Amino acid sequence: MDCNRCEGEAIMHAAYSGAHLCEHHFRESVEKRVRRRVRRDDLVPHDVTPDDPLTWVVGLSGGKDSVVLTRILHDTFAEDPRIELVGLTIHEGIEGYRDKSLEACVDLAEELDIRHEVVSYEEEFGIRMDDVVEDDPENMAACAYCGVFRRDLLSTYAEDLDADLLLTGHNLDDEAQTALMNFLEGDVAQMAKHFDASLGPLSERGDQEEFVPRAKPLRDVPEKEVALYAHVEDLPAHITECPHASEAYRGEIQQLLYDLEENHPGTRHSILSGYEELAGIVADDRAGESEDDGDGPDLRECAECGSTTTREVCRKCGLLESLA
Ligand SMILES: [Zn+2]
Ligand SMILES: [Zn+2]
Repeated sequence: MDCNRCEGEAIMHAAYSGAHLCEHHFRESVEKRVRRRVRRDDLVPHDVTPDDPLTWVVGLSGGKDSVVLTRILHDTFAEDPRIELVGLTIHEGIEGYRDKSLEACVDLAEELDIRHEVVSYEEEFGIRMDDVVEDDPENMAACAYCGVFRRDLLSTYAEDLDADLLLTGHNLDDEAQTALMNFLEGDVAQMAKHFDASLGPLSERGDQEEFVPRAKPLRDVPEKEVALYAHVEDLPAHITECPHASEAYRGEIQQLLYDLEENHPGTRHSILSGYEELAGIVADDRAGESEDDGDGPDLRECAECGSTTTREVCRKCGLLESLA
């Protein structure tokens, strides 16, 4: 099969678009989608100048998604003095797994010549995920603990690094899964939060100064294409899944989406675009409500660590307490 855009041999076929692309045009198409998302989400406001560049912190796990995102952002902005990229890697304390992917991160940061910071649960919290899984005082999936600690460190360090933006490598499959899970759980509040946290033009995000805004510019690219891009570009990505991965519900949703996509190509795209539109409406609606009656969630400072929370003690500190 020939490439749709040249005489070359196609290395991939995307059922959702009907495209057959050669290696060159496939790479170009992935890069274009990331750059278009950067533009549409207005991640580089017009008034940014080289004298006061933006610091973009990329959550760099060493998996294919974050490695591909970092590489494309680097290539896009290599000549642009308005953007400074910093890779931020979190070591969870998972024997073997994270050490290998940390190597991938170090290799990539060296290759691209970008600043790279590594923080660990062990140094920050005095815990390792391998031990957390053993103890499991809250009787939860490993990912539930890990997600709380990772989010906390990402935002803390994004703030410490004076980040203007925190970017993560979520792909189309990740985002469609999350969207569908929120739908199926009927979690409208989570939809609004999702929108605030990661979507929509930055300029319209309003009064969130205490949080570093989030962005997910890889979210138009399906997982398989991210993997193929990492492969053809020979990027130092670590492919193995986390040994503690145990999100059973997400696994079911993933399988459901594979089947739907197989029979109805384009399903992931339509789920995500419908979700984003709806999440925007919900977020607007909630913003209006809290202006009217001041009835938003009561935010306060965690008694232990001072981070913003709706409770006496934040979730992270609660978990650390039960692990102590
Ligand atoms: Zn071609
Ligand atoms: Zn706390």
